[in-house]
Amino acid sequence: MIIVMKGGCGEQQVHDVSQRLEELGYVVNPIFGVEKTVIGAVGGKEHEKVDAVDQLRGYDGVEDVILITKPYKFVAKEYRGKKSVLDIGGVLIGGDEIVMMAGPCTVESEDQLFLTAERVAKAGAKILRGGAYKPCTSPYSFQGMGLEGLKLLKEAGRRYGLKVITEVMHVRKVEEVAEYADILQIGTRNMQNYDLLREVGQSRTPVMLKRGMTAKIEEWLLAAEYIAAGGNEKIMLCERGIRTFEPYTRNTLDLSAVAALSSLTHLPVIVDPSQGTGRRDLIAPMSKASVAVGADGLIIEVHPNPDHAIKDGAQSITIDAFENLMPELEAIAGAVGRTFKTPAAV
Ligand code: PEP
Ligand code: MN
Repeated sequence: MIIVMKGGCGEQQVHDVSQRLEELGYVVNPIFGVEKTVIGAVGGKEHEKVDAVDQLRGYDGVEDVILITKPYKFVAKEYRGKKSVLDIGGVLIGGDEIVMMAGPCTVESEDQLFLTAERVAKAGAKILRGGAYKPCTSPYSFQGMGLEGLKLLKEAGRRYGLKVITEVMHVRKVEEVAEYADILQIGTRNMQNYDLLREVGQSRTPVMLKRGMTAKIEEWLLAAEYIAAGGNEKIMLCERGIRTFEPYTRNTLDLSAVAALSSLTHLPVIVDPSQGTGRRDLIAPMSKASVAVGADGLIIEVHPNPDHAIKDGAQSITIDAFENLMPELEAIAGAVGRTFKTPAAV
């Protein structure tokens, strides 16, 4: 790390900082400039660095402390050197092929779910989405079908040859949800629920970690690090939009983060244009843009009758719209060196 001392700081302050660094196991190398002193420090225990930085920031005469190495390890690109490909029961995520996840925001009934599952599967989706436990801003809105919803998801997945992704909101529900789902979704509101991250880190079921709505890329990767540090390395990230000052869209879909992640992490990245925009008319264009910037897959809200959806109808597309979108994505995927086969083209 590098410690930049304030201009005009005294020898004693440089000495105090150097002494503390040595106590923490660093080899210290101060450089005395004309205006400022900079202390280079190497060594020190990897997992104690973040706390050391915090501590040194408080020292008298310290202007800034810069950590040279990244604060995360297992999810860093360098840890693997190449992209991770997750095998979800035969569906590969992070390989050449773009993977489509589709289904309703919320499981509402057997008819709604099964009709959607049948048709998105026919159109080329590989993974069925649907919330059984819903995180709701209002305590008075529909909280999901719970266990009944999980059972319907599993049965629909089995019947139509789809893997299942659904959200888990509570540490005590991880085992239950993992019994019915192939992928555990950690929602935006829980990205910083560190107990939950640790718990899914203990699980061996793959996890899709959504970006916190106000999370910086580094915070998001550190959240993923919690899961990886627990021993579960089957993690994919999901960009789902961040809060900005723009009210026209529900969130601002940060596709620059998707491009940036390809040089920061080996984890596959999925994009959710439904929560990302909140608008049905923007799903198709943002899906295409996502594939163009390097997303490994998409998760899209599809409903047989979006106008009657209990939740998120405004950002759900019809099944017909989903069917029309698929060949368009195929063209974009081809243009950026990815494969994506809709059944019609197989
Ligand atoms: C959802 O996928 O329906 C959802 C609630 O997502 P998010 O956590 O991104 O809001
Ligand atoms: Mn939703």
